[in-house]
Amino acid sequence: MREFDFINKYLRPIAGGNSHNLGDDCAFFNGYCITKDVLVADVHFFKNDAPFNLARKSLRVNLSDLASSGAKPFGFMLGLALPNGTDESWLAEFAKGLASDIKEYNFQLLGGDTVYHDGALTISVTAIGVAQQPVTRKGAMPGDNIFVSGAVGNGFLGLRDKKNGIASGRYVKKYELPEPRLELGLKLPEIATAAIDISDGLLADLGHICKESNVGAHIYSDLIPLADKSAGLMELITGGDDYELLFTSRLEKVEACHNIGKITAHAGLRLDDAEVEAKGYEHGKR
Ligand code: ADP
Ligand code: MG
Repeated sequence: MREFDFINKYLRPIAGGNSHNLGDDCAFFNGYCITKDVLVADVHFFKNDAPFNLARKSLRVNLSDLASSGAKPFGFMLGLALPNGTDESWLAEFAKGLASDIKEYNFQLLGGDTVYHDGALTISVTAIGVAQQPVTRKGAMPGDNIFVSGAVGNGFLGLRDKKNGIASGRYVKKYELPEPRLELGLKLPEIATAAIDISDGLLADLGHICKESNVGAHIYSDLIPLADKSAGLMELITGGDDYELLFTSRLEKVEACHNIGKITAHAGLRLDDAEVEAKGYEHGKR
């Protein structure tokens, strides 16, 4: 069963009042917001990836969800399911990576759980942020401009390069160590009507905003800041793991962001002159 079918059919009916019906990057209560991302070896990263950066990526994908909600990082809980026999040197490097980003983002480790098992390395981070005025996926209005905070497709290109055995290079670096847009995130409550990070891919995540806001969108390929213009457009805008912010706003211009189109009253996504599907990364697709 696909990820979103499971969420919609079985989890939404039992979700709590603070969950926004599971329609958001974070849940919100009493000025806090909370989010979780799980990373699994050979799904989200390669088994032999360096633990120092892997620890940082695990925090950063969650920090990106806080950014998209307009929140300031507060702290996190760390769940680790380690393969039996994991070396101490691996654990020491992993902890060093955590420490490095704890310092960089003024984040704090609050607790967690560690288990060993006969299975793949699994890292589960629950991140808590402070958000007086959270930004959600709802609230995009027809006529709003659609902005993206930076290059689209680094995730796809980095994964492609890694699969081809390229161990470093600029796309691999961006794929292994995304930069959560926290500074921009803190401005979103003032400027954005809706926001999301493009971890599932630009089209899929624009689709999530449209679905939650009951609107459509029209975007233009020549306005999208592609990470590599010579790569295929569709791959770049449907590949996941990008961690730029996508948001809607009444403003025409937002510093350092790219206006890629407009929200429409008519449902569905248009790319240039064609209807497109909100395709992207989804777990459980076979
Ligand atoms: P994100 O891309 O921000 O990680 P997802 O697309 O993974 O968000 O999830 C969509 C929504 O479904 C979110 O509100 C998330 O909290 C919720 N969700 C996903 N999996 C589960 C689960 N196992 N239990 C409860 N809620 C879930
Ligand atoms: Mg998720």
